[in-house]
Amino acid sequence: MEEYSKRIQSVKNLIENTEHILIAGGEYLSVEAGLDTYGEMFTDNFQDFIERYNFTNMYNGTFYPYKDEEERWAYLARYFYVYMNFKATGLYKKIHNLVEEKDYFVITTNFDEQFYKTGFMKSRIYASNGDFRYLQCKKPCHNELYDFVELIERMVKQTDDERKIPRQLVPKCPKCGGDMDLHLTTSKNFIKTAEFEKQHEKYARFTTRNKDSKTLVLQFGNQKTFEKTVMENPKWHLVRFVEPKGKIGNIGSSLFKSFRNKSSKNFDKIITFEEPIEEVIDQLLR
Ligand SMILES: [Zn+2]
Repeated sequence: MEEYSKRIQSVKNLIENTEHILIAGGEYLSVEAGLDTYGEMFTDNFQDFIERYNFTNMYNGTFYPYKDEEERWAYLARYFYVYMNFKATGLYKKIHNLVEEKDYFVITTNFDEQFYKTGFMKSRIYASNGDFRYLQCKKPCHNELYDFVELIERMVKQTDDERKIPRQLVPKCPKCGGDMDLHLTTSKNFIKTAEFEKQHEKYARFTTRNKDSKTLVLQFGNQKTFEKTVMENPKWHLVRFVEPKGKIGNIGSSLFKSFRNKSSKNFDKIITFEEPIEEVIDQLLR
């Protein structure tokens, strides 16, 4: 049997014989699902910013030191608007099909909401980066969150030819009058809500209560987070989907060194795929 088919068969067996599945979804998964931050999703929606600033991908504009808050919020609003309105992708749906009968839990750094849109249960998702649908006081002077969704739509509709929203739409804290910030962990003073803590706790409980039972981790992205846990727990297995080396626009390449699993000793514990994720999932569903 070919080496690739062997890996597929091993994962099929693992899924069949494992009750608990932990899914770790990083950015690579969404890129593979079609949310291409370097491609059409970017060029179709940000032509005015591209012409003005030569941005080459969607992130550039989120960090750019704009002269005006009106322009910064115009960019941020459109950025999240694009994610909010992106269709539920086939790849995420297929992964859902693969695990829906299992006791699964999702931990994700993605804020594009694809897990929510494709049938995964909200109560089983821990979005560790927060929720862009809300704003908070930047300081913060108090712990309340404010709906950002409705404001996003107004900001997008009212962005002018200078790429700016009207001044009165720039969000200000209703208590202290200071700046507002996105409710994301990129914010220095991120407010941990009860809901956020609850999901975090569920995630922690999922890993501790299954410490001694067969558990499969499906990890999409190059982070090494689960390697150690899996090696320490005799009944745990890790299947990881990583970006092939040398791919242009390789997001994680500068942050995480790609790693392979060549030692045969670990082969049964950790299985790695550099093949396109959807192709592998299709094989697993067959
Ligand atoms: Zn405030």
